[in-house]
Amino acid sequence: MSAKSKSKPFKACRSCKSLVDKDAQVCPVCGSKEFSDEWDGVIIILNPDSSEIAKAMDIKNRGRFVVKIE
Ligand SMILES: [Zn+2]
Repeated sequence: MSAKSKSKPFKACRSCKSLVDKDAQVCPVCGSKEFSDEWDGVIIILNPDSSEIAKAMDIKNRGRFVVKIE
């Protein structure tokens, strides 16, 4: 059984690791146009100031981010 799908509904910003809609041309968070479809894992940051994960990943904004980008 394979739960992995090649066609994810989102892509990941290479610059800030934000998860953005697949049809977005520009990252709404950082303005980058560099995206990757090869990403894995999602974290949701609600309080970047108090989140250890946000600090570890150097994330300063709220939102959805990918854990890993290929
Ligand atoms: Zn970005």
